[in-house]
This record gives sequence, structure tokens and C-alpha cells, in this order.
Amino acid sequence: AKDPVRVLVTGAAGQIGYALVPMIARGVMLGPDQPVILHMLDIPPAAESLNGVKMELVDAAFPLLKGVVATTDVVEACNGVNIAVMVGGFPRKEGMERKDVMSKNVAIYKSQASALEQYAAKNCKVLVVANPANTNALILKEFAPSIPEKNITCLTRLDHNRALGQISERLNVQVSDVKNAIIWGNHSSTQYPDVSHATVKTPSGEKPVRQLVSDDDWLKGEFITTVQQRGAAIIKARKLSSALSAASAACDHIHDWVLGTPEGTWVSMGVYSDGSYNVPAGLIYSYPVTCRDGEWTIVQGLSIDEFSRKKLDATAEELAEEKALAYSCLS
Ligand code: NDP
Repeated sequence: AKDPVRVLVTGAAGQIGYALVPMIARGVMLGPDQPVILHMLDIPPAAESLNGVKMELVDAAFPLLKGVVATTDVVEACNGVNIAVMVGGFPRKEGMERKDVMSKNVAIYKSQASALEQYAAKNCKVLVVANPANTNALILKEFAPSIPEKNITCLTRLDHNRALGQISERLNVQVSDVKNAIIWGNHSSTQYPDVSHATVKTPSGEKPVRQLVSDDDWLKGEFITTVQQRGAAIIKARKLSSALSAASAACDHIHDWVLGTPEGTWVSMGVYSDGSYNVPAGLIYSYPVTCRDGEWTIVQGLSIDEFSRKKLDATAEELAEEKALAYSCLS
């Protein structure tokens, strides 16, 4: 039998956490033959609720779940973890300035970075979900210098999956037959959902989405805004945020990173930019990536037309501003 993998979930008593921990314990994230030990962290006001989640995990009797650590102590939470899913963060409340939210989150991610740096397993893989996800991940990278920069990522897979979902609805095809959408840039409303290179499996072979959706105005307009604003639409409908799909996407992200992407398929991940596609180096930026042997690689050589170029640049610009704001909170 395999040794258990230790998976940390911060903010585990929150909405996404509540949807995510049972998925991990069922093997959705790491596969049906991989035992796991869950480390759940939350802040003291959520301690009682966190303990309730732990009770439910016991009651669910998940065969793969070999242990649960539920704690408000960041050192205990980070100790020996192989995978860290960072969901805890300070929410933007009404009337709060962007800078105030940023400064709260910078402080949280700085201190959690130090704990991961000291106590996590050496090759720990980190996924940041809490917003502003890209910038939180960048801060985490800065303050955990011994964790390889390739191990620090943020979630844009939900946006990626939303793009696949919209194409599948539009063309009335199975979502599993649609692939190779791209989310470029920030996990924010400036993200660029791009289906220029996406394809659909049809009875007569693989066809470009651009050919099947003949309405270019829809692809350049409503499709993009629907994906960008999907989170807000779900809050409006449910009066709560999109926790189920966020949790599912977090599992997809780690699953593909660890176990690999299928041949000919790429996915979107927020990763540390090396300057690919003329995006400034040193930002956490969402790119199309393939994964193999536990490592992601940015897909190279895709053609970028003028429409796309502007959108790639606009979201990079926003990330550069966020980075500057985050650094101003540090000093
Ligand atoms: P959620 O579980 O709904 O969301 C957690 C974070 O994920 C938020 O930052 C949220 O951003 C972000 N997020 C990213 N993508 C999505 C998506 N598609 N849908 C929803 N959220 C998304 O928040 P809760 O408030 O229920 O839970 C947060 C937990 O974190 C609580 O248990 C709280 O106690 C804990 N916490 C921990 C802190 C710490 O570690 N120091 C500080 C503050 C809270 P957005 O807000 O923009 O929606």
C-alpha cells in the first residue's frame, strides 16, 4: 500500500473548505488508491466549526482517510505537508478599500509562507485559492524562498472549466469532448478566457471551436464576459459563492499537476512567469500548461492575434499593479 500523502487545507471551516475536504478524502484529488492525511487550519473564531467538520469526516468513514489534524496552530498545520491548498483569506467586505484587503492578505500569506518554509515537506506543492489568488501566491513565493518557485501556483482552473462548460452548452456537446481552452492572466475580471486554440471531438474528428461557433461576436463578447462574471452570477443566484465548483477545480488542478495531463491536452494554471508570451517575468500569471512527472511546462508557440495580445497585456498590467500594491503593504 502507498504511504499517505499529507494535504493541508487552510480556511478549512469555510465554504470552499467544506466542499473540498470530502473530495480529497474520497480520492478525487490524488486518485482512488492514494491514502491521505488531512491537515485543516482555520482561525480561532472558526475553531468550533472546524471541529464539527472533523467530526463529519470521522462519521463519513472514508476508507482512504488515514488521519485528520484540525488546528488553529499554523505550525502544527504545516508540519510535514506534501500539498498545501490555501483557501483561507480575508474577504473583501463592503466599503473596504482594495488596499485594506490587500494589506490583510499580504500579512496572512507572509506568515503562512514562513510556516510552510520551515515545516512543510521539502518538495511541497502549493495551490493558492484565496483572492487575490495570483498576488497571494506571489507573496507566498517571496517569503518561502526554499520552496522551489515551480511549486507555487494559483487557481485559474475554475475559470478554465467554466470556459469549457460555456462552449459545451453553446454547441450542445459533451464537456468532456471540449479541450484546450486557455485562461490568461489574473484570476479577476481582467482574465482572458481564450478559445482560439480549443477543439471539440466530433464524429468526423477534432474540430476547432472557432470553426464550430461561427458567431465570432459571441466568442469575442458574451462568451468572455460570461466566464469573467460567472462568480458574481452564482452569488446572485445562490446568495452564496461558488464553493462546489471552486473545490472541484482545486482537485482538478492538483490531480493533473501530480498525475499528469492527457496527451494532447493542456490546462490553465497560475504559475511564476518566465517571460513566456511577452508577459513580464516575475508575476504569477495564468498560462496553458501540460504536466508530467509532477512538473508543469508552459505550452509554447501558440499564435497570439492582435485581439488576444491586448487582452494578455491588460491582465498583465493589472497584475503588475497588484504586485506594486502588495509590496507597498509590506513596507
Ligand atoms: P470561501 O471558502 O467561500 O472562500 C475562500 C477564499 O477563496 C476567498 O478568498 C474567496 O475569494 C476565494 N475564492 C476563489 N475562487 C472562488 C470561487 N470561485 N468562489 C468562491 N470563493 C473563491 O470563504 P469563507 O469565508 O466561507 O471561508 C474562508 C475561511 O478562511 C473561513 O473559515 C475563515 O475563518 C478563514 N480565514 C482565515 C484567515 C487566516 O488564515 N488568517 C483569515 C480570514 C479568514 P473572494 O472573497 O474574493 O470570494
